[in-house]
Amino acid sequence: RVAYVNGRYVPHAEACVHVEDRGYQFADGVYEVCEVLDGRLVDERRHMDRLERSLKELRIREPMSRAALGHVLRETVRRNRVRDGMVYLQITRGVARRDHPFPKGDVAPAVVVTARSIDRRKGGKVAEQGIAVITVPDNRWERVDIKTVSLLPNVLARQAAEEAGAAEAWFVDRDGCVTEGSSTNAWIVDIDGRLITRPADRGILRGITRTVVVELARREGLELVERPFTVEEAKRAREAFVTSATKLVMPVVRIDDAVIGNGKPGSIAGRLRDLFHGAAEIAS
Ligand code: PMP
Repeated sequence: RVAYVNGRYVPHAEACVHVEDRGYQFADGVYEVCEVLDGRLVDERRHMDRLERSLKELRIREPMSRAALGHVLRETVRRNRVRDGMVYLQITRGVARRDHPFPKGDVAPAVVVTARSIDRRKGGKVAEQGIAVITVPDNRWERVDIKTVSLLPNVLARQAAEEAGAAEAWFVDRDGCVTEGSSTNAWIVDIDGRLITRPADRGILRGITRTVVVELARREGLELVERPFTVEEAKRAREAFVTSATKLVMPVVRIDDAVIGNGKPGSIAGRLRDLFHGAAEIAS
């Protein structure tokens, strides 16, 4: 395996960043995870749009052109011989003596890209069973709309899920409404078959998979309401599912101790999963 680190492709086992990288010291950086399907990037344009927005919000300079970055992503995928999997991109504010304010002068942002294969059949098998989620208080900062590498609350929530025998944790705001998962967006289907997901305001990350599923649902003539929903509502829902670039559309069959629907993945989630790649933008 190889990784791209600041202009070079190096063996993955030896890929290092500097001890004074601001990503390492302050989590002062952003990232993207893009699905790789048949060696091609899924929804690259949207991921690049979101990346540029994240960089702008944190006032980190764009390290290279979009075309150049796209080339690095593809080259990393190619050199790792990834057919199905994901490519990870991280950009930090760069290396400077540890001090909270932005470094003075022209410090180059640090860029790292890795890629790895994911067994698609495994994901498919999990989706046939559905996953369990737990709920935890949303104790994150107010700018979760920025895709930063500052993910400690997400890490702790996900670990709590693992220890509870669940695959994901849903964050819950002070009003008892679900915001999103630790690395996924959250959806339910109500008794009338309406899709419900929280609006992509500042309470959540605007997932690329979420955006594509919103478009797909409209195209399929499914009724969709973008509004917050409570944990109680979710526990009474007909279906529930999560979306992300790596989990795609993943049915949820248990929330805390509540069984969702008949305890099997719902038909709408299944349909959206089956149709997902037909709605995504996949470069040729
Ligand atoms: N919310 C959070 C907090 C996430 O980390 C992710 C995955 N990066 C998502 C939602 C889903 O986003 P996407 O569909 O772009 O993978």
